[in-house]
Amino acid sequence: MPSVRITFLGTGAGESLHRAHTAITLDAPDGTRVLLDASSGNSVMRNATLAGMEPKDFCQLLLSHDHADHMSGLPLIQTMHTRASDGGDPIQVHCSSKALENLKLLFQATSPGMTLDHEGLRNSSGRQVVRWTPIDDGQQIGLGPNTSATRFPVDHIDQAMGWRVECGGVSIVFSGDTKFSPSLVDAAKGARLLIHEAYGTETSRELAEQRGHSPAADAGRAAALAGVEELILTHITNAYHIDPQPLVDEARQYFDGPVSVAYDLYQVTVD
Ligand SMILES: [Zn+2]
Ligand SMILES: [Zn+2]
Repeated sequence: MPSVRITFLGTGAGESLHRAHTAITLDAPDGTRVLLDASSGNSVMRNATLAGMEPKDFCQLLLSHDHADHMSGLPLIQTMHTRASDGGDPIQVHCSSKALENLKLLFQATSPGMTLDHEGLRNSSGRQVVRWTPIDDGQQIGLGPNTSATRFPVDHIDQAMGWRVECGGVSIVFSGDTKFSPSLVDAAKGARLLIHEAYGTETSRELAEQRGHSPAADAGRAAALAGVEELILTHITNAYHIDPQPLVDEARQYFDGPVSVAYDLYQVTVD
């Protein structure tokens, strides 16, 4: 039975004090590594190193949206990937057209000497170091011999998206940041695993929704309606960094399957 190893490199919400910002790797049976979101600062490479991963092996990035806590770590990932894979392939970035415009601004501001074109980013010696592709809703993209991903819309900011990743017959769905979203429920139908954000509990629903997020109850509801096998909560606010049990308890009121809360360097294998 093929299995996918999932490593949570960052599991904190935007204002996180004790955890890195969002980044998750999926290691598929065909050898493809997919990075879901790029966190901020040096968090991806710092935690990837602790998990025994090499910078050269970060080749495919799926971005959910263009908030800083999901995207701003990319320039350092690119730098380390390029140095480690001398002469190797560029990082391939798949995102919305709006996120791509902001990604270009990010590289322009932080990476002097690089040149941008419609295909991606080139370093001072003309080598392509990032290749970017704007993806439409519902579009399926190939990431490896037996690994693909499909974008679906979620309710967070303009052009925010979640991803359904198929890894050799194992389906993993990532919500990105979102309020309760019927399009996510549709996209997650029958998935092996739903990784869903949880911005606190019902007690902070109003604040969560104002900021475009879901309380744990809505993550549980989405998991139940989609009929997924397992739910992992992430994008955790400070109040639940030490004791996330209230998030699990609330999601379990709606969803019968296994529920856990990710933490930085949490690893799980699904098949
Ligand atoms: Zn976020
Ligand atoms: Zn966001």
